[in-house]
Formats: sequence, C-alpha cells, structure tokens
Amino acid sequence: MTGQPRLAVVGAGPAGLAGALAAAARGVHVTLIDAADQAGGQFFRQPATALRARRPQALHHQWRAWQRLRDGLERHVTEGRTEHLAGHHVWCAERGSAGSLMVHALRGAAQDEGVAVRADAVLLATGGYEQVLPFPGWTLPGVVTAGGAQAMLKGGLVLPGRTVVVAGTGPLLLPVATGLAAAGARVAALVESADPRELLRRAPVLASQPGKLAEGAWYAGLLLRHRVRTLARHTVVEAHGTDRLEGVTVAALDRGGRVRPGTARRIDCDTLAVGHGMLPHTDLAETLGCTLAGMAVRVDGEQRTDVPGVWAAGESTGIGGAALALAEGHIAGRSIAARLHGTEPDPRGWAPAARTRARLRTFFAAADSVYAPPAGWADRVGDDTVVCRCEEVTAGEIRGAVGSLGAGDLRTVKLLTRAGMGWCQGRVCAPAVAGLTGCPLNPGRRPFARPVPLGVLAALPVDHGEKD
Ligand SMILES: Cc1cc2nc3c(=O)[nH]c(=O)nc-3n(C[C@H](O)[C@H](O)[C@H](O)COP(=O)(O)OP(=O)(O)OC[C@H]3O[C@@H](n4cnc5c(N)ncnc54)[C@H](O)[C@@H]3O)c2cc1C
Repeated sequence: MTGQPRLAVVGAGPAGLAGALAAAARGVHVTLIDAADQAGGQFFRQPATALRARRPQALHHQWRAWQRLRDGLERHVTEGRTEHLAGHHVWCAERGSAGSLMVHALRGAAQDEGVAVRADAVLLATGGYEQVLPFPGWTLPGVVTAGGAQAMLKGGLVLPGRTVVVAGTGPLLLPVATGLAAAGARVAALVESADPRELLRRAPVLASQPGKLAEGAWYAGLLLRHRVRTLARHTVVEAHGTDRLEGVTVAALDRGGRVRPGTARRIDCDTLAVGHGMLPHTDLAETLGCTLAGMAVRVDGEQRTDVPGVWAAGESTGIGGAALALAEGHIAGRSIAARLHGTEPDPRGWAPAARTRARLRTFFAAADSVYAPPAGWADRVGDDTVVCRCEEVTAGEIRGAVGSLGAGDLRTVKLLTRAGMGWCQGRVCAPAVAGLTGCPLNPGRRPFARPVPLGVLAALPVDHGEKD
C-alpha cells in the first residue's frame, strides 16, 4: 500500500463514529458515509438543522458522549483526516480492482447521482431496524413504529399524536414512552408483552450490569412521574378505527404467550407506537460475501468479518444498544488502523472496550430471550389482515401458499404470493411471513441494499463519480 491508508465507514451512528474517530486518530484517512443529513445514527439522532432547535439536548440522554463524538468528527474533518458524506445512501459494496474495495452510494435530492468511494478497508456500521409483527388494524393511519414515533420527535420535533399507546416488546419501548410523555403527549399505556421482572430473575447477568439496573430504575421513575400505566405481559390484539386509529384492544397473556380469556379491554388513543424488537442490517455485508451468524454479521475479537478488509461493528453484528456499538466501533477502528499500517494490533490497547463489549453481549443475550415476541402472536392474525404492505398480500394468501400450494420456504412463499417482492424487499414482512408459515427466517440475500436507478447502473463502471 502506498500513501495514507484509506477507510470507508458506512454508518455515522455510535459504532461508525467511534470507529472513524479511532482510525483517523491513528493516521488513517476516513470517508464516513451516511444516508442521513447529520451524523448521530438512531441513538444520537439530531433535529433537522432548519428547525433551529435551541435545546436539542432536552430530547437526549448521554449528551456528553454525543458532544465528544461530534467534536471529534468536526476536528478530524477540519484537519483533513476525515470526509463526511452526509445524505449518501450506499446501495452496494464490492471488491474493486487491485484488491481495493468500492462503496457505491446515491446522492442528490432524487437519489439518482452515483458516487463511488475506493478504500483499502471498509467498516460496516449500518445498525439495525425495527421489527413489527402484524395484527388486525395495524395498517390504519395513526399506527406507527415505536422508533418512527421517536424519530419524529427527535428529528422533526413533532409528536405523532396527542394520546399514544406504546406497545410491543423490548427495551426500546421505554425511551419511546418516556420521551413522548416528557414532550407533552398523553401516553395512555405502555403495553409490554414480556415480563421485565424475568430479567431480575437472571441475577448473575444483572449483577455484572449495575448500570443497566440503574437505567431500569430511572425509566420506572419517569413512567411513574408521567403517570404512564405499564401493562406487562399484555399485548395489543386489535387496532380500531375507520379512516384512522381511534383505539386499541389490549389483553393479558398467560405464561405461554396466549391471550387470557376475559381480559380484553379497549384503550382510546389516536396513535399506536408499536415495535417487536430489532433486526441487524446485513445487506452490504452479504453482497461482500461476509458470513452471518444467525441474522447478524459474524465478527471476530477485532470486529473483522471473514472477508479480508471488511470489518463490522454495532447493531449490524447483533442488537445490543448504543454503549455496545461504541465499544465495538472503537475496537474496529483501532484494529483497522493497525492492520492498514501493516502491524499486528495489540488487544491490550482496547481492553476496557473489550470488557464493556463482553458484559453487554451477555446482558443482551439474556434480554433477547426475555423480550421475544409472544408465542401465540401468529394465531391472532386473521386471514384478511394485510401482512406484506408493499404488495398488499394477506395472511390468508400466505397461509394458502404453505397449506394448499405446499411452499416450504420463504422464497417459494414470495414467488407464489409476491409477499416480500415490493419496495422494502421483505425487510418489514419477512419475520411475519416466517412466523405465519413456520418457514425458517433467513437473512434476505438482496443484491442491493436499496433500489438503484437504472441510469446509475448504466453509468458504471467504475470510475464514474469516483471519490478518492
Ligand atoms: C428507530 C430506532 C430508535 C432507537 N431509539 C433508541 C433509544 O431511544 N434509546 C436507546 O437506547 N436505543 C435506541 N435505539 C437503538 C440504538 O439506536 C442503537 O443501539 C444504536 O444506535 C446502535 O448504533 P449503531 O451505530 O450500530 O447503529 P445506528 O445508530 O442505527 O446507525 C446506523 C447508521 O447507518 C446508516 N445507514 C444504514 N444503512 C445505510 C446505507 N445503506 N447507506 C448509508 N447509510 C446507512 C443510518 O443512516 C444510520 O445513521 C433505537 C434504534 C432504532 C432503529
């Protein structure tokens, strides 16, 4: 390698920022590429600049951590060690000529301008996305994802509605419910299908995580202060309304995840913010040929994938929160810098981050088993409920594909029904189709991470718009 080594980081969330900073500080030229207009990712999502928020920190915690990342990025950009390509959507990453890596992105208001970034190494820090399982009424206006409600608040400074029910499962529901309540919404209920006390029963896991225990207590205090009623081991069985949401029916669940007869009751609301956990973004890793472990990118102790020159960090390697993403990004950045300079990295240099990573991975493995969607959810989805929203395919059609037509895997269900064939390419409906049919949920194997205009493809190869 001649000249300064070059790293392309995809994703400017906690993992990508930590990786970019660690590598840039060690003599690597970094190109940080993100679809959003501002750095921060999901956890540190910033209000749109045009809104001129006077106190953006009011919607955040860990503001100091954000300031440190933001200031570090600004310094590296000013001093020419890092470029930040905001508003660039990466659709593909591939091995280029002479062993280098090429990252292809789209930019411009219409996302129809191709940009290619050449690098000696790539760090994939693309985060994760929310999983939402269907139920009768889930397509009504007024039903939004929990993260979507939060994005409206943090990014657009707007509330999704006046009276909100926050429902589903997973730790994300807590900041969403408390954030909406603090911003002035009436949160009529927080409906969690799991029983968070199960975590308390896993004492060894919690004993190593006093911070998580304190965080849980802090959220419990906020829920009390905002008078948010918490219904654990409950689920939304139906959303009601004609033109838009008017209320939801919730019911209690037994230990097996089935609705307990006689417990259904209605809660009036104009917004339902719902989420059933998160899944890692793995498209770019898959196009590069990286092996996955389950639904996440498989990495070693240095955050290296099994494809030379490709590292991954944060939620693309497994869902585990911002602190874990920061630790993994930091380790990846240091490892990349050492390897690009042709030296063997010394893990003692990142020992504190490695300890954080080990502790948090253990904690989130336990949390994952507690916050699984309730076992009986698929039985409550009526045949007329739309499951694939892009192609408007119902649960009845999907069940028919496995029942009378004999499909045995998600791909065959897709070919027979078009479920997963639309704009989102199954990102939203695949877990639901898997749950309804009993087919294994495999990662998507999509050739591109997002739709690409034919004009951009036609303008390849390769030097077109290349940024180096
Ligand atoms: C909607 C949502 C809300 C959340 N809210 C909270 C919360 O309130 N509290 C909490 O503790 N945790 C929250 N989480 C979880 C938390 O955000 C994550 O734990 C943390 O942000 C993970 O950091 P990361 O760097 O791995 O990914 P992210 O922060 O998700 O960052 C990934 C970045 O990659 C970019 N990206 C992805 N694909 C591409 C592409 N193809 N091209 C260009 N850019 C791309 C995205 O724009 C994003 O900026 C939320 C997660 C989501 C999805």
